[in-house]
Amino acid sequence: EERMVTGEYQEADSMELSLRPSALNQYIGQHKVKENLSIFIQAARMREEPLDHVLLYGPPGLGKTTLAAIIANEMGVQFRSTSGPAIERAGDLAAILSSLEPGDVLFIDEIHRLPRSVEEVLYPAMEDFFLDIVIGTGPSARSVRIDLPPFTLVGATTRAGLLSAPLRDRFGVLSRLEFYEAKDLCAIIERTAEIFQTSITKEAATEVARRSRGTPRIANRLLKRIRDLSQVKGETEISSETTAEALSMLQVDDEGLDHIDHKLLKGMIESFQGGPVGLDTIAATIGEESQTIEDVYEPYLLQIGFIQRTPRGRVVTHKAYQHFGMKGPDAE
Ligand code: ADP
Repeated sequence: EERMVTGEYQEADSMELSLRPSALNQYIGQHKVKENLSIFIQAARMREEPLDHVLLYGPPGLGKTTLAAIIANEMGVQFRSTSGPAIERAGDLAAILSSLEPGDVLFIDEIHRLPRSVEEVLYPAMEDFFLDIVIGTGPSARSVRIDLPPFTLVGATTRAGLLSAPLRDRFGVLSRLEFYEAKDLCAIIERTAEIFQTSITKEAATEVARRSRGTPRIANRLLKRIRDLSQVKGETEISSETTAEALSMLQVDDEGLDHIDHKLLKGMIESFQGGPVGLDTIAATIGEESQTIEDVYEPYLLQIGFIQRTPRGRVVTHKAYQHFGMKGPDAE
């Protein structure tokens, strides 16, 4: 099922490539992360060394891939991109690594999904830039050492905790991307509107920002659909009326929640009196995987204070009850 408000990449987001900022100073928001990276990049450039390996983590759609490509641009090197599930065997990784030019950035998305056997080959590659590959089987098996050009690995994952400790420890820089503040999302929406060769009122941009779950990918996706309606209505500038109308057609509520969030929250309220209820139980109730809930659905609900984590499980807050016009369990 395609959700309008998930941060995960969808086919319809292919327009994103043209929306990607290419320099650090065009990358909006994430001030802390940018500030740190900018210093590390400058220092590495001064030393004429590749940048330390970087781990970027945070919910999907917040700009990890974009930032990885920017790092390569700022370092003046090539950007090579792959993903954990795409590297099935040690040999696949060896082929990629041995084709790099000195200093290149290798981006591995969903790095927590690398097979363990591949991960082990990656350790010496990250640490000392060589590969130890076993060729052949049985008595004729032998290990071959292959030297690699120095490179920078940029890994991306939804949660740093998903990585094994030995892999995590081999990153020199760990940066957590946060949900975007409304003003930063507004700036992203205005920038995207400009690239779409259209314009949007401040009020309308603010409205889109408010309903985009702090996530640029969602903001851009919503804006694309809102622009369609605006164009059909013959507007010269995207208005807040059209924005509200489009978002209601897309069934995105005032807080950027959709029917799946409603199902999750109402499931917790109706079947478990609002909790505490364990993640696996929630998952079973709404027919989703626990990890998808934890990495994709839940972070924003936690961020806006609609659910809380307690040692005994997740709890629906009064704020969420209020959102549905309901009274909380112990409300007076
Ligand atoms: P992730 O890798 O975290 O899933 P992406 O890097 O693919 O996210 O970002 C999704 C899209 O959101 C990008 O194509 C880009 O258009 C937009 N985007 C993300 N971060 C920013 C930013 N800081 N400034 C402007 N646009 C951004």
